[in-house]
Amino acid sequence: ATRPGRTPREAATHCPYCALQCGMTLREDDDGVTVLPRQFPTNRGGLCQKGWTAADLLDHPERLTSPLLRDPATGDLRPASWDDALGRIVTGIRAIQASAGRDAVAVFGGGGLTNEKAYALGKFARVALRTRHIDYNGRFCMSSAAAAGMRAFGVDRGLPFPLADLGRADTLLLVGANPAETMPPLMRWLTEQRRGGGRLIVVDPRLTATARQADLHLQPLPGTDLAVANALLHIVLTEGWVDKAYVADRTIGFDAVRRSVAAWWPARAEQLSGVPVADLEATARALGTGGRVIILTARGAEQHAKGVDTVTAYVNLALALGLPGREGSGYGCLTGQGNGQGGREHGQKADQLPGYRRIDDPAAREHVAGVWGVPADDLPGPGVPALQLLDSLGTPGGPRALLVFGSNPVVSAPRASRIEGRLRDLDLLVVADLLLSETAALADVVLPTAQWAEEDGTMTNLEGRVLRRRALRPPPPDVRTDLAIIADLAARLSAAEETGTGPTAAATRFPSDPAAVFAELRRASAGGTADYAGISWERIDAADGVFWPCPTEDGPDTPRLFADRFGTPDGRARFHPVDHRPAAEEVCDAYPLHFTTGRVLAQYQSGTQTRRVDALRRAAGEAFVELHPDLAARLGIDDGDRVRVTSRRGELHAPARLSPGIRPDTVFAPFHWPGAARANSVTNDAVDPISGMPEFKICAVRVEKA
Ligand code: SF4
Repeated sequence: ATRPGRTPREAATHCPYCALQCGMTLREDDDGVTVLPRQFPTNRGGLCQKGWTAADLLDHPERLTSPLLRDPATGDLRPASWDDALGRIVTGIRAIQASAGRDAVAVFGGGGLTNEKAYALGKFARVALRTRHIDYNGRFCMSSAAAAGMRAFGVDRGLPFPLADLGRADTLLLVGANPAETMPPLMRWLTEQRRGGGRLIVVDPRLTATARQADLHLQPLPGTDLAVANALLHIVLTEGWVDKAYVADRTIGFDAVRRSVAAWWPARAEQLSGVPVADLEATARALGTGGRVIILTARGAEQHAKGVDTVTAYVNLALALGLPGREGSGYGCLTGQGNGQGGREHGQKADQLPGYRRIDDPAAREHVAGVWGVPADDLPGPGVPALQLLDSLGTPGGPRALLVFGSNPVVSAPRASRIEGRLRDLDLLVVADLLLSETAALADVVLPTAQWAEEDGTMTNLEGRVLRRRALRPPPPDVRTDLAIIADLAARLSAAEETGTGPTAAATRFPSDPAAVFAELRRASAGGTADYAGISWERIDAADGVFWPCPTEDGPDTPRLFADRFGTPDGRARFHPVDHRPAAEEVCDAYPLHFTTGRVLAQYQSGTQTRRVDALRRAAGEAFVELHPDLAARLGIDDGDRVRVTSRRGELHAPARLSPGIRPDTVFAPFHWPGAARANSVTNDAVDPISGMPEFKICAVRVEKA
């Protein structure tokens, strides 16, 4: 018999996962939802395994389909009505704030939330909760590059040029970046670059899938990227490859940097990093005589307690070579999370208001408070960075309630067992998610949220290009969008305030319609660094996205920054002298090996979503510990043996995977898995003093057969 069939529905949208935000079309018919690749300037019809299988979670049996409340009698999570769940949250917040003050409630957001959600969450914390405590997991992602970009250029946009520039570069230097696994469609640009005669140089302690394609692979000891950069600049100076006119006209502070790198002669850098002098010289020559040159950093360079300084060293190099602002040249950061860029622009960071404004700037406070309809004096001041916030939960004087949206810190935070303990110490933990993540499993209240294919909104990709996320279908009956949850909570909290404005006014101030939120976001961002005032959904639809800043609807957007001036008050970029310093934890007799972490192709971040997709589980279903065969032989470990990796903070158990591509003094593990295989049980919670970025990429361990 022929089924009647229904007219297929389609939505032109983008992948829910990484910052490349590949274009895809979703098609729904009687057989379910299919992902089709879509031509878009970033992916040009390509998708990786994660994108192809993204729709598998829409009707997944483990999907949350109603709120859950923890039963005080049994300790179990049980299905509940929205009214009961939200009522429990509001009662809890009211009681905690009445006894311990407004800052006793904290909010934790995510770099995968849409721009509208990131904006609404920041406003919710400052206006509805009036707490200073909000931060997000992007602090664990690219905060060091953001801080380095702000202090050098006065603007932080991951790539200040379109991705297509990568294909035009004569020399491309990738530092701590592995796009062949993290964002495979981007490799098309690199292939094009090399086909055109360009050189690819990769700096990474491992021979990654990306490094395998490089013309030159520098394999430094983890934590020595800064010394490598300073040595490269030393050679550039010695050889006379500095762009003196550019430095004189467009920058400030070069003399101090010149003096600081004088002592970084190549042999010293070789001694520290293990990178041969000849390779340093070859790299410097490629950069200094290479025509169009692009330098990119990613988490390998950034996730260190000296991450800001490490990125700054590469920015110094780029400025000395006169790269930023020139077509096909420049410095950029490969942002990781889906909305890692937009997520840091709209106010869910502890120190920021929408438009990438500083929360301690009186003019910024006045502007944003005006949009929000509250007195500027009522806005709280700056909070604290993510790890400091998480580590203060449940401690004397610290927050006693936490609301988590789109994040899973039980797996993704460094020294994760300690953070897990902090979460357990809370009086109230609320998690909004689409699946029961490891963090949600600890919650008192779990709120089921819509998935990416069930809501509209905008994302800002790694180029600063604002994109439309378009809904294919509505969420299931008892599932709500994050915006609807925020609006309802704000209304209930307002109604609960003796002196509040009442539920109607609060509901107006927190719309759940993403178009209305975006309209408000545009006004709030107007005049800020990340200015969206001229970006409408219609304008995004009419083109392949719109690049910020875009201050007027009839004016141009900005695909390429820094052509004429930088974002500093005088328009000049700033050099900052930076020097190598040791990792927060060095190897010793008890912990003689370096430990570093990263991602694999078929998994994404804490794995909450991708670990539940059959095809991805088949491709990469288990954690592993990668170690060099010589090291393994010394330790009596064979390929596949279960090993224990121990640091001063905890243990990781997983099968050994032997690879001659890793340094013999270093072991690697991906961080996507929980439980005994949790890599972040081992990692160090030392942080960068400027960005708050934890030192995920290096700590001291020992490895034994388990
Ligand atoms: Fe999705 Fe990133 Fe893969 Fe593209 S590269 S399909 S955006 S996960």
